[in-house]
Amino acid sequence: MRIEQWSSLTSPELLALAHVDPVAVLPVAAIEQHGAHLPLATDVIIGDGLLASACERLAREPGLTPVICLPTCPIGASLEHTHFAGTLSLSAEQAIAQIVCIGEGVARAGIRRLVLFNSHGGNKAILDLAALRLRAEAGLLVVKANYFRFAPPADALPAAELAHGLHGGALETSMMWHLAPDLVRSDAIAEHRSLGQRRADAGCSLGPEGDAGFAWMANDLHPAGVAGDARLADAATGARLVAHFGTRLAEVIEETATFDLSALGPTQHG
Ligand SMILES: [Zn+2]
Repeated sequence: MRIEQWSSLTSPELLALAHVDPVAVLPVAAIEQHGAHLPLATDVIIGDGLLASACERLAREPGLTPVICLPTCPIGASLEHTHFAGTLSLSAEQAIAQIVCIGEGVARAGIRRLVLFNSHGGNKAILDLAALRLRAEAGLLVVKANYFRFAPPADALPAAELAHGLHGGALETSMMWHLAPDLVRSDAIAEHRSLGQRRADAGCSLGPEGDAGFAWMANDLHPAGVAGDARLADAATGARLVAHFGTRLAEVIEETATFDLSALGPTQHG
């Protein structure tokens, strides 16, 4: 497949690409606290790293269907982290409007396929609502890809850490050791046993996630704003996670490219 950057194209070049039915990919991330050991841009770095990994794979695939990477939305919906300095957050309404406005621009260019690629848990609900509006109002095929919902590689991390290490734990810290090791503050790496972990250990079934969950602010889960054991993280695990999630994202983009749009019903847009 052919990989293009939206921002590097000219308007006529973009229009020409739209005629060959490309897939646009919008990375949606966050600038928010990740404890004392990871930078505020952690979700941007991970999202961009996973998309780069996916694009490396797609560039090796046969066929010339263009994949057009939109500029990353660095700021998302991070209300749950606003207790901590450095978090920048749109309101939910603004975050939905941001994605809808960008999607409308994609549709105006004549593109019909859009992947929303999200690297921040707090954006998931926003994406669901924005994607539906773009389906209903702009007639786009909109695919919602949240990497943290992708099945993780077997045995990469302990099951309890995958379940409870929701923020700044071994998963994110491993990928940061791989993608941006200079930005990991190794002297601040620590275990932060989250409220979810402590409740599960006490035999409670109601936690912050799961089939029934309670709404949480990051400082509910742990006073440090981190949930998980970053001591379990290492660069080799991070490389494995990035390759694994990047492969899955590449599959999602490929299937979006070949999705039979005539299988969908009519919309306001026709
Ligand atoms: Zn994060």
